[in-house]
Amino acid sequence: MPDPSAPPPPPGTAAELLPGLRWARMPLPFPPRHVNLWFLRDGEGWLAVDAGASTADATALWEQLAATELDGLPVTRLLVTHFHPDHVGLAGWVCERWGAPLLMPRTEYLLARFLRLDTDAGMTAHQVDFARRAGCPEDYLAFLANRGPLFARAVVPVPRAFTRIAGGDTLRIGGRDWRVLTGGGHAPEMACLHCPELGMLISADQILPRITPYVGVGATEPLADPLADFLRSNDRLRAIPPETLVLPSHGEPFTGLHERIGSIAAHHAERLDTLAAGCTAPRTLFEATAILFPRVLEPGPLGFALGETLAHLNRLVVDGRLRREDGEVPRYITA
Ligand SMILES: [Zn+2]
Repeated sequence: MPDPSAPPPPPGTAAELLPGLRWARMPLPFPPRHVNLWFLRDGEGWLAVDAGASTADATALWEQLAATELDGLPVTRLLVTHFHPDHVGLAGWVCERWGAPLLMPRTEYLLARFLRLDTDAGMTAHQVDFARRAGCPEDYLAFLANRGPLFARAVVPVPRAFTRIAGGDTLRIGGRDWRVLTGGGHAPEMACLHCPELGMLISADQILPRITPYVGVGATEPLADPLADFLRSNDRLRAIPPETLVLPSHGEPFTGLHERIGSIAAHHAERLDTLAAGCTAPRTLFEATAILFPRVLEPGPLGFALGETLAHLNRLVVDGRLRREDGEVPRYITA
């Protein structure tokens, strides 16, 4: 069993957790500041899990990994866990660099493809309209109007073909069986990989050791209830033995999966109670956001705070604890 307290590998290097299982890390110019990549020895090369975001130095770091950390062997398959830029960003580059196929859950692939193409002015106008209906101030609307499409900035064109992986599949990687489990809430069909033989779970962003994964609602599906999906999928992960070593996409490997699932659930229960208690008078989404995030003022983090707050509001509405008063700017109040 690898030592879970081992320090993270510096950028451009890989740490060997077990023979044939290596851990590399890519820096990110946005929080959480890094993403972990996993390399599983497989046939004539490596199956890589996730690609990192397309940033100024990312391809150079990949070339450094290829030159010094992969025993001179190619990436023969790239598995991307979900559609977020820090995971799928360089998938197109990696697949082309090695001629490797892209393995991805279908919903994640389709979302990544569509968001990469959705770059016209209509997309920005839609974001601004969403923020206006949230009751956001004019300076935030102006910030959004000038920002343009974020996704395409950190993601190179997504490959035009892929191989679907789905929950319940078993992948044979390097002579071992890895079971695919999919989770929702942070992303709609995020892939996690469990190897019972090794007692390891590659958890992607579904379960993280220190930060709680972002669960948010945006302009595409404003009535979505991803928090229900998220908590349900986490509960399904309780079927995995508690002593399993978890390899998350952000932070360090850890044990204590079941405790972590419990503390993430408790965190959201507390956030829901706080929000419900703050909505005894009608609140816009922007006002409700100030209840959960009283210190978030910067426009960048505000977008995440709005998304996370709407996920909690929608959960409370579906649960019958709040109701939504529709109008030009909807308001939320105790049901
Ligand atoms: Zn991530």
